[in-house]
Amino acid sequence: MERKLASVQCVLALHPIENADAIELAQINGWQCVVKKGEFAVGSLGVFFEIDAIPPELPQLAFLWTSRTAESPRPRPESFRIKTMRLRGALSQGLLMPLANFDLPESLTEGDDLTATLGVGKWEPPVPTGMGDWRAPFPPLVRKTDEMRVQSVPGVLDELHGLPYVITLKCDGTSATYCIDPRTDEFHACGRNQSITEGANHYWNVARKYEIEAVLRKFPNFAVQGEICGPGIQKNRLGLKSMEFFAFNVYDQQQGKYLNHDDTRAFLESANLPAVPIVEEGEGFAHTQESLLALAEGKYDGTSNEREGIVIRPKTERNSLLLAGRLSFKVISNRFLLKEGE
Ligand code: ATP
Ligand code: MN
Repeated sequence: MERKLASVQCVLALHPIENADAIELAQINGWQCVVKKGEFAVGSLGVFFEIDAIPPELPQLAFLWTSRTAESPRPRPESFRIKTMRLRGALSQGLLMPLANFDLPESLTEGDDLTATLGVGKWEPPVPTGMGDWRAPFPPLVRKTDEMRVQSVPGVLDELHGLPYVITLKCDGTSATYCIDPRTDEFHACGRNQSITEGANHYWNVARKYEIEAVLRKFPNFAVQGEICGPGIQKNRLGLKSMEFFAFNVYDQQQGKYLNHDDTRAFLESANLPAVPIVEEGEGFAHTQESLLALAEGKYDGTSNEREGIVIRPKTERNSLLLAGRLSFKVISNRFLLKEGE
């Protein structure tokens, strides 16, 4: 499921903020964001911009980047995006605006994606160097790595309820996929969206370090996906001395499915490939969004760096109706987000 950076959403609840009379908190799915008091009622629809959205340069949004004392609206600064903030002590994630503020068709309903309609961009973290050159499109039989945030689809908690589950540490690096393309029998080292040309880049350095091609030659149907972390990549929040790989998926290209958790771990161990650390596992998933947000917070071991978050999955692979795909989602630490936005 693609992220909807702007969409039509319903106000599920409104909550006062202590010592603030002009603003209040609106709940949108699992998110809470600050709104002007009285602007929305419970049940109202609005245009909701998620964090990381780069809103279009429209006059009705210029207040976001223009100071109140300025005489005329400013152009949107290059680096502007919707961030996680604290306002009067209250956590605010996203921006909710009345539907009427935009020139939109009448027929809109809850959940409609407005990202393209409104021309909303997406903030991306800076691209590290050493990522190599484009070689080929992403291998067609493997899926790209991605995880939705629980707050955008809170119903995934019900889908997972009661099932054996595993929560792993979200390792803050860059995504890598290794596989042999069955059509050509060629080994591919890939980034998030493309196969990378062999050379002295992070993807191939890691492939050589862990001898991943040799592993896959024995199991040519398998694709291994994981995170490359280390110096020079996303601030190296894990505090590593050299480039390391943390696998989180083994995908069977022939069967078109991911291996279950136990099989994934057994395979990775036999192949001497490190896996993402397990934060918690259990036989009956009973977490709430709140308890997961608490579990997401903490420091990467041996560092003073906030960890990015956690990824939650059933131990046995399962399809999610809400995600229209694999049941798996992430919970990003709010402490991490507040710090990142500074
Ligand atoms: P957005 O939330 O805007 O969609 P994004 O698509 O860049 O952001 P990330 O925040 O990077 O996504 O989260 C998904 C990525 O997290 C996966 O693609 C994967 O590379 C990485 N990742 C790190 N650790 C894990 C883990 N333990 N399990 C699964 N994925 C992980
Ligand atoms: Mn994503």
